Amino acid sequence: MTPARAPAVAAFDAGRLRAQFPILAQQVNGKPLVYLDNAATTQKPVAVIEAIASYYREINSNVHRGAHALSDRATSAFEGARDAVCRFINSPSREQVIWTRGTTESINLVAATFARSRLRAGDEILVSGLAHHSNIVPWQLAAEAAGAKVVSIPVTDDARLDLEAFARLLGERTRLVALEHVSNAMGTVHPVERIIAMAHAAGVPVLLDGAQAVGHMPVDVQALDCDFYAFSGHKMFGPTGIGVLYGKREWLESMPPWQGGGEMIETVSFEGTRYAALPYRFEAGTPHIAGAVGLGAAIEWLAGIDRAAATAHEDALLAHALELARELPGFRLVGSAPHKVAVLSFLLEGGHPQDVGTLLDQQGVAVRTGHHCAQPLMARFGVPGTIRASFSLYNTHAEVEGLFAALHKVRSFL
Ligand code: PMP
Repeated sequence: MTPARAPAVAAFDAGRLRAQFPILAQQVNGKPLVYLDNAATTQKPVAVIEAIASYYREINSNVHRGAHALSDRATSAFEGARDAVCRFINSPSREQVIWTRGTTESINLVAATFARSRLRAGDEILVSGLAHHSNIVPWQLAAEAAGAKVVSIPVTDDARLDLEAFARLLGERTRLVALEHVSNAMGTVHPVERIIAMAHAAGVPVLLDGAQAVGHMPVDVQALDCDFYAFSGHKMFGPTGIGVLYGKREWLESMPPWQGGGEMIETVSFEGTRYAALPYRFEAGTPHIAGAVGLGAAIEWLAGIDRAAATAHEDALLAHALELARELPGFRLVGSAPHKVAVLSFLLEGGHPQDVGTLLDQQGVAVRTGHHCAQPLMARFGVPGTIRASFSLYNTHAEVEGLFAALHKVRSFL
């Protein structure tokens, strides 16, 4: 722990925060739960759980269409949540905040509309070599339809993007750059401002997959100057099944609609249909109203957190883990970028990741094992998968110690 970090860490009381997360207080396999699978999904504070419950208990109704009080209230709550997202990411307008099911659907939306309408044979989409499958496959689908190509941006030995190689790959044929703000498998935080500036200098728009960033750091889409930003509510203490696509207005307005149905139209006739204005043009069907309300509550809850102190706390957890790792024989870190969030991806000599995961689970420690939906990245490091402990602001130093005590036990079984 560096001396500069110490005061912020001291000010951040993860122990007290945990009281707001009832799920964390349980025992698993007869042991106190140590939840270290936060990159897969974060747990939910009471404020979010209650917001969803009270939505269903008190105002459940469909939005935008009712001539009755409940529908008005549901619409206000739903649109209020959009306003909260708008402020949360500093979008220039609420019309640029589109509700989706999550990061995956947000990226698919851009691939199916923006990319498909622009791609021609021979074009290229540059995609991060650390990308999650949901930021690879949609581009492959779009490229295949057009005879275009998805080209991966090489990864360095310490799990950064190779920016020199990126500069060489950026060219006349590049139509889009897609990368994650933060890597889910290894925690690397990319220098996205620099990457975006490089792409823009070549006239290429950039989509950022923010799934792993929103739970760890404030995001300002205007400061980033990204063209699209995609994220999921469940990675930032909100519910599953709700997410957001932010886009620059000029792009969103030029994109053809994706799914057709109610909500996304102005008028419909069998002779032709006129589509609704933003954001509704991309929101066909009854939306996940309770999900939006829950995400709004998560944003409000996060507003009460000192995020700089939370980041310092998470950094200290990672530093602590790395220190303890030095005393664990056979521990091999995979992904050692200098700037990373609190994600520890590793291997334990002689132990298949899945077996290690099972043995940890028996001791109440929840981690993720496998390829983390990043098979090309695993191939880059020559491993089939890793064990991943991913920390959040409610994790404690006692839990870091618990993880390593459990790993020492695992070693004795191998
Ligand atoms: N991108 C990254 C970097 C992720 O970590 C995830 C979730 N693991 C996704 C995309 C997909 O998010 P979702 O499943 O919520 O759509």
